[in-house]
Amino acid sequence: MGHEPVYTCPECQLGVLRQRRVSYFTVHAGQLISVPDFPAWVCDVCGRREYDAAALAELRAMLNTARPPRHRVHRRRTGGDAARPRDATGARRRP
Ligand SMILES: [Zn+2]
Repeated sequence: MGHEPVYTCPECQLGVLRQRRVSYFTVHAGQLISVPDFPAWVCDVCGRREYDAAALAELRAMLNTARPPRHRVHRRRTGGDAARPRDATGARRRP
């Protein structure tokens, strides 16, 4: 094993952040985007994750140049009233 760069976790001050590949999730233009194999730093004690800043910037640049999706999957309400959840999406299905 070589000498990996490690950083003390800012959250718990006990663990260290180690570089790992994780699945990164973000929402862009109303769509959930998952990026597998994304570089992140993960604490081995509390599990805190910090995503690699350079990789994040790269991903954002990529998303901003990508074409926005033509269709909208579902509408989003800004109001916070407790509406019944059944009209939200068509995903809820009864057998
Ligand atoms: Zn920690």
